[in-house]
Amino acid sequence: MNIHEYQGKSILQSFGVAIQRGYVAESPSEALDVAKKLAEETGTGWFVIKAQIHAGGRGKGVVTETGSHGVVLAKGIDEVQDKANGILGGHLVTAQTNSKGKQVNKVLIAEDVYGPGDSEPKEIYMSVLLDRANGRNIIMYSPQGGMDIEAVAEETPELIFKEAIDPTLGLQGFQARRIAFNLGLNGKAFKEMVKFVSSLYNAYVGSDATMFEINPVLKTSDDRVIAVDSKVSLDGNALYRHKDYAEMRDTTEEDPTEVEADEAGLNYVKLDGNVGCMVNGAGLAMATMDIIKLSGGDPANFLDVGGTADAARVEKAFRIILKDPAVKAILVNIFGGIVRCDRVAQGVVDAYRNMGNIEVPIIVRLQGTNAEEAKRLIDESGLEVKSAILLKEAAEAVSEVLA
Ligand code: GDP
Ligand code: MN
Repeated sequence: MNIHEYQGKSILQSFGVAIQRGYVAESPSEALDVAKKLAEETGTGWFVIKAQIHAGGRGKGVVTETGSHGVVLAKGIDEVQDKANGILGGHLVTAQTNSKGKQVNKVLIAEDVYGPGDSEPKEIYMSVLLDRANGRNIIMYSPQGGMDIEAVAEETPELIFKEAIDPTLGLQGFQARRIAFNLGLNGKAFKEMVKFVSSLYNAYVGSDATMFEINPVLKTSDDRVIAVDSKVSLDGNALYRHKDYAEMRDTTEEDPTEVEADEAGLNYVKLDGNVGCMVNGAGLAMATMDIIKLSGGDPANFLDVGGTADAARVEKAFRIILKDPAVKAILVNIFGGIVRCDRVAQGVVDAYRNMGNIEVPIIVRLQGTNAEEAKRLIDESGLEVKSAILLKEAAEAVSEVLA
């Protein structure tokens, strides 16, 4: 589950990571109010106004309606309201969004931590993530952080460092010191960085995160080390033990069909192809997607209806698949192990009748308990549903309807 920058920062802060402070606002007037509060608390006179969307590259991104960037500096409280107005409600297009961009519903009003008196702020890149190949968390970091990190990775990969963490030992003191050293820090900044890295790693582990990306981490000219940005993904499967994080979910940032499927207990991921698939079991769903490819189609989605493929679920799944106008055929591939094939077949027939106007061809392959009976049910239903028992037959039927 992805969360917003301001939410990520609140998690960081709760683990003792130093952050650029700020408050979120949903309207220009609220932006001014929180800026006043921030000025009182921190003494800052300059503010950064930051669009809160689930995508990076906001600093260089542009709001379609106003031409404003997604991260702007207000050199005085009198500029805050106008500049927030240039971002809120607009659509921010960045290198990480599509061409329509994402609507901005919230802005973070943060204290300016770079200036005005700061002559040489240093922007550092730092992320924590799981290196699956090695089965270890790694801290990835670079002294050349900031908005051009992609170019650094491409042109000077030797400036990107990695520190692998032994899961039984956790982050060791010498590792945190090596990181601070490689970042070219000394004195107070060195110590601050050691503290920063340790608390950041604790936050990553303690929040059951799958990714933390802090770009930039700022070393100020008075040698403080601060998280200026936060891109955080949390492990959705661990949310049951973090009820407060579960509430951070922002479904307006997600694909509406995926949200609907999720609410119905269906495991659905939209893809770009033309063959919708409805399958029970994640492994079978993957295999089915391969078969669709082999038969000349392209899967339009991944959909695991789970173990209880009853009529209501099948109907819901049909409705969700058919919301995608790119779907030219639907392949239903169910293995009847616990669930009986004839019950699923009845579900397909009922759903088809209930929905009335399904125009795309449907191929149903049912294998396992009562498969023959299921095939008979479908064949005798009089509906335009092709039935198959072998996967090969089903694949051929898909090729035929696509031809
Ligand atoms: P991103 O572009 O989505 O990664 O958003 P960031 O939060 O990283 O902000 C973009 C850029 O804005 C940063 O790389 C900084 O250079 C700049 N920035 C962020 N906070 C401040 C600030 O307090 N003062 C100044 N002057 N610049 C800032
Ligand atoms: Mn950033």
